[in-house]
Amino acid sequence: MSVQIHGSIAQEPEREWRKAIGHGLKGRCPHCGRGRLFRAFLKPVDTCEACGEPLHHQRADDLPPYVVITIVGHIIVGGLLLAEKYADWPMSLHMAIWPALTVLLSLILMQPVKGGVIGLQWALRMHGFGGEPDDRPERQPSPHQPSPAQPMPGQPGHHR
Ligand SMILES: [Zn+2]
Repeated sequence: MSVQIHGSIAQEPEREWRKAIGHGLKGRCPHCGRGRLFRAFLKPVDTCEACGEPLHHQRADDLPPYVVITIVGHIIVGGLLLAEKYADWPMSLHMAIWPALTVLLSLILMQPVKGGVIGLQWALRMHGFGGEPDDRPERQPSPHQPSPAQPMPGQPGHHR
């Protein structure tokens, strides 16, 4: 993920990133905070139903899982160490609690975290959220468009 700095940013009003992240965490449009951000689990809407803000620019990609792994890892490892130190749990209880809690926390946190990441991207005008075209071809609102496989330049190919 790269932060893009465009020349026109200076003239545009600054977007409040804390507020945008807060709206995203609550699953709301980072712009107005009213419209839904997700149409299904982890599937963001293309445009806000309340204010019309285009949201298909989002490119949260794999940052939300990284953030969730960091949060859940700290909770689980910390809890496990505390339980080991202060409680005398049998191994079967450990095996019942920690894997289940890991899965549960990950599922609970993934969508809010993704919303927060989208809010930050919107506030920073990344990936076309500022109106400029992105450096990569824009993701179309309709998914399932397989891109044709292209050979990498410099790859060993057919030499005569
Ligand atoms: Zn909105």
